[in-house]
Amino acid sequence: MADVCVVGVDLGGTKLLAGSLDGELNVRNRAHRWVSQLSASELLDAIVDCVEEVRGSLGRPVDAVGFGIPCLIDRSRRVAAVSNHLPLVDVPFADVMAERLGVPVFVDNDGNAAVLAEARSGSAQGARDVVMLTIGTGIGGGLFLNGGVYRGSVGCAADLGHIVIEMDGPPCLGSCRGRGCLEVYVSGPALAKEGERMASLSPQSGLAGAIADGHKLTGAIVTELAHDGDLAAIEAVTTVGQRLGIGLVSIINLLNPEVVVIGGGVIGAGELLLAPAREMVAARALALARDVVRIVPAGFGAEAGLVGAGIMAIERAGSIAAGGAG
Ligand SMILES: [Zn+2]
Repeated sequence: MADVCVVGVDLGGTKLLAGSLDGELNVRNRAHRWVSQLSASELLDAIVDCVEEVRGSLGRPVDAVGFGIPCLIDRSRRVAAVSNHLPLVDVPFADVMAERLGVPVFVDNDGNAAVLAEARSGSAQGARDVVMLTIGTGIGGGLFLNGGVYRGSVGCAADLGHIVIEMDGPPCLGSCRGRGCLEVYVSGPALAKEGERMASLSPQSGLAGAIADGHKLTGAIVTELAHDGDLAAIEAVTTVGQRLGIGLVSIINLLNPEVVVIGGGVIGAGELLLAPAREMVAARALALARDVVRIVPAGFGAEAGLVGAGIMAIERAGSIAAGGAG
């Protein structure tokens, strides 16, 4: 598969990223689309359009397209059964895309794609037991256990955003019926909300100044102010990092991973987010598990899902070409 060329697609709750990958995992010909507030048919059109943009800028045909999508995938029926952030309900996603794109298509959950990228050649390269959390609009989870992606009995494992950290906490979002789920407390919108709370407590802060200047706080704005040294913004990021740490304590006690990889837009806060999370793990997780685990940012940054979707396409297209099950 030396001269392989695939397209990897990472479909997030608000943004679609696509790019071509070669056998050395070089990403080129990037394209993106904004996908929030779209109907199901508009969303499928936008995905096809974005992949065609990547293909149009390549000087050669592609061997396959890999998708990481933020959905529970019913593998027995090959459908995207449920999505918390997108209108994909009971959509036979792989078949629809294969027909519209005219090439082999491989689909997995976006969290599974991201953890595959990090375990194969990102910041968890070489580790056998890896947990990944992709923190953006919500939390995507991925488990790479005992040397392979772990999907659970029907394929919906690793929904790490729905670990409950408070029994009577706020209702969760979308189709989740839970309360007090981790992603209610740890996400881009949660960081913005914490920023608003800190701004109201610190009227002299940069956060309060941004609001006074007419900005609606976002996770990205809070992160930028924190990097600039605004103490209220740093405290907002610290609080979210501590809450992340609480979620990680349960994950680490349960699975004893070698590496926990944190990706998604919120990891733009870097050590401001990870240091308080590590402190919480050191203080509260069980011995041995807490001593061995490394908690690190994604090696592929915001492109882990895209790269993982591409790796999946390369590996599974290669497996089919070699007569394997695919
Ligand atoms: Zn939930």
